[in-house]
Amino acid sequence: MLSFNPLRVQVGVKELTLDHAGDFSFISHAHSDHALKTRVPSILASEATVDLLKARGYASGENIVHEHYGTKLLGAGHVLGARQLVAEGDGGTIAYTGDFRLSDSLCVKGAEIPQCDTLLMEATFGSPEFVFPDRESVAKEIASWVTEKQKEGIVVLGGYALGKAQELNKVLNDYAGIAPVVEEGIAKINDVYVKHGVALDYVRSSSDEGLKELEKNFVAIVPMNRVNNNFAFQLSRAYSRRVSAAVATGWALTERFGSMQKFCLSDHSDFPELLEFAEQTGAKKIFTEYGSAKRLARELRKKGLNAHAVEEQQKLLMAWGE
Ligand SMILES: [Zn+2]
Repeated sequence: MLSFNPLRVQVGVKELTLDHAGDFSFISHAHSDHALKTRVPSILASEATVDLLKARGYASGENIVHEHYGTKLLGAGHVLGARQLVAEGDGGTIAYTGDFRLSDSLCVKGAEIPQCDTLLMEATFGSPEFVFPDRESVAKEIASWVTEKQKEGIVVLGGYALGKAQELNKVLNDYAGIAPVVEEGIAKINDVYVKHGVALDYVRSSSDEGLKELEKNFVAIVPMNRVNNNFAFQLSRAYSRRVSAAVATGWALTERFGSMQKFCLSDHSDFPELLEFAEQTGAKKIFTEYGSAKRLARELRKKGLNAHAVEEQQKLLMAWGE
């Protein structure tokens, strides 16, 4: 029997933990900082993820393993370097998606669809209300809003530092002809994108060019958790100029962000894409995790698939139970 639980897969003689700390961990992408704050002796990840982990100070690079023990890493879309893990065993093929996006974004190609017997998939937006608008029209909407607001003052766009910030950067470059001002944390991630072939044009806020840019009505990309009404107010006071702020996230469909403008731009699959992905893998057994895990499992069962949500309790038991 192929040994499998939502945290681990047995690959040959090695036990591989999935996005959690262990002796040997598969890190699907560089968002998973919860797993990486603990020292992990060996990490299996894509080259781009390793570069991003280093840029973010999560890994030194010494603990990276290059032996895959028969596993395959497939593209997951989502953010640069994101991979799914596919492992073979006596009981069949297992696929673990990590976070994924099925369709292409401006910076990364969409996820590949693994053929597998058992599938462990994310369900962040796994509920029917999450149907994302067409990406191209959102990009155009952002570009025209920014162009309009820049005439009045400073424009600040908030998004996750890894993934969303680069997508916003690309939108500004390609749809508005703007090179945004970014602070060092985002600039370092941008550098890794550029190294891996994603063309991005941006200005470091601390550079000479950046300081000059800040004297004008600049457009800045800032980490999501920093952008709120108070931040806009402080910025407006510091520069004595009007500030327009917006956030870009999949949660724009259901959440409010104070009086800020919001754009629906996600690095995850929406509900229809999650269904499509699950069906096309041909999996006989599906486990869902994160977000709307229970709802997605129910919707998949309605389609005749054998799907169940991974309970947090079950995860903990499996992690610490022996
Ligand atoms: Zn992620």
